[in-house]
Amino acid sequence: MSSLPGSPVSYEELYKEPFYGDGLRFSCTRCSACCRYESGFVFLSKKDVFILAAALQMEYNKVIETYCRWVPGTMRAEWLSLKETAEYDCIFWKDGCSVYEGRPIQCRTFPFWSSILVSPDAWSRTAVFCPGMGSGRLYTKDEIELWVSRQRAESLISRNI
Ligand code: SF4
Ligand code: SF4
Repeated sequence: MSSLPGSPVSYEELYKEPFYGDGLRFSCTRCSACCRYESGFVFLSKKDVFILAAALQMEYNKVIETYCRWVPGTMRAEWLSLKETAEYDCIFWKDGCSVYEGRPIQCRTFPFWSSILVSPDAWSRTAVFCPGMGSGRLYTKDEIELWVSRQRAESLISRNI
């Protein structure tokens, strides 16, 4: 679900000769496919948790305790992700994203993730389940790379195991 953590895609690889030089079209149709039905991970930065805490009017640690889980990852570390329901819906899905204004950076930057932008194939494979990709608003190369840099600027929360 994510280029994070441990993305194999370096800045150099991504920006060498980007296939999205003329921009890419994307407008979310709110179909909910990326929030529901399949198990996945929404990894979180400290800023994400602070924003969620403010939106939910909860303490930082209470947000982690109530809405988050630790996911085993690489380098003997666990990464903080949102919980999901038994039906594999995001814990915040309630007939729409119940924290839309405060949704995590991973959600806000989709589909402009380095793992999706690495090749036209990766973009097309993701677009199979996202009807918003390839139509609607045209994002320029600079706008796309701004989203990538915004995501990379936020360190994700992890702990050693
Ligand atoms: S899958 Fe795409 S179109 Fe559907 S809600 Fe997610 S981003 Fe929007
Ligand atoms: S936080 Fe909101 S946008 Fe992100 S996966 Fe959950 S329901 Fe979807």
